[in-house]
Amino acid sequence: MNRFDYLKPAGIKEACTILADKGSKAKPLAGGTDLLVRWRKGKISPEYLVDLKGLGLEGVSVSKDGGISIGALSTLNSLLDSEYICRNYSFLTEILDDMGSVQIRNRATVGGNICNASSTSDLAPILLALGAKAKAVALDGERELKLETFFLSPGKTVLSENEILTDIQLPPFSKKSGAVYLKMKRNAMDLALAGVAVFLTLQDEDTCAAAKIVLGAVSPTPVIVTQASDELVGARINETNIEKAADLTAKAVTLVEKEVRPIDNVRASSWYRQDVVKSLTAQAIEIAYKRALQSIKK
Ligand SMILES: Cc1cc2nc3c(=O)[nH]c(=O)nc-3n(C[C@H](O)[C@H](O)[C@H](O)COP(=O)(O)OP(=O)(O)OC[C@H]3O[C@@H](n4cnc5c(N)ncnc54)[C@H](O)[C@@H]3O)c2cc1C
Repeated sequence: MNRFDYLKPAGIKEACTILADKGSKAKPLAGGTDLLVRWRKGKISPEYLVDLKGLGLEGVSVSKDGGISIGALSTLNSLLDSEYICRNYSFLTEILDDMGSVQIRNRATVGGNICNASSTSDLAPILLALGAKAKAVALDGERELKLETFFLSPGKTVLSENEILTDIQLPPFSKKSGAVYLKMKRNAMDLALAGVAVFLTLQDEDTCAAAKIVLGAVSPTPVIVTQASDELVGARINETNIEKAADLTAKAVTLVEKEVRPIDNVRASSWYRQDVVKSLTAQAIEIAYKRALQSIKK
């Protein structure tokens, strides 16, 4: 690792000024759990580390419409401690609880997971499925971005060098909705070799009004599988015609297979990923349906 200067700005404006001034020589630092790994591998060699901790970008706040805003510097464990998240977004706690180790979750932040733009991110697929937005700030002002436009390629996002991600915003989670993210990994501390997030909203007790299927770790960036998602919309599903749900699921899975040709890499081959994705998608659709049905009955 090269020599570097550690800078700890006292406020967001100062942090933006440093980043604008130092350009590509500087890197924002959140928990460091991705950044330090890439640094030690020689993939980056920043001359200035700009620590974002202490800028007040932590915590969860509930917006007027019932959605939430998650501060980019919130650690994974702090979200697991959030009563609001546990009560209203319990599927998120399932995901967070299965990321890294306690030590990693104490350091790793939501913003770092998104800004690192790894295809193996466990949060990107579910946040995309939920229709999340990202808020970023630079010296010349703030902007709000749809997460679906955020990821460009591995390690690359639409953020410029002098921009800081401040929040991730989630729309209200409807009572008629169900969501889940399932992943396959080789061992407890491994990154996903394939992941599938499904978010479904029902209408009139049994009609699927909205659906989104998002795959992670199978392509350079997380991918929204639009045709397969659309197949589910308008379908009439309830407990008495669950067989139809299985047919629909099979159709959606076939479409997923057509739409995405998984990557080949050290973690898994393309054909293995294809099989895993089929099985995870079928399971995830079923779980999301059941969760949506349950939430209607509550
Ligand atoms: C042992 C181990 C296990 C892991 N397990 C998992 C896992 O199960 N699932 C998973 O998804 N990930 C896993 N990770 C990856 C990593 O922990 C997460 O991606 C984590 O959330 C990254 O957050 P961070 O705060 O540490 O980011 P950092 O390493 O600090 O930053 C990552 C990148 O984002 C930039 N950045 C960070 N915050 C901002 C911001 N607010 N604005 C602009 N740029 C920013 C940094 O400059 C850097 O380029 C694991 C890592 C390790 C080492």
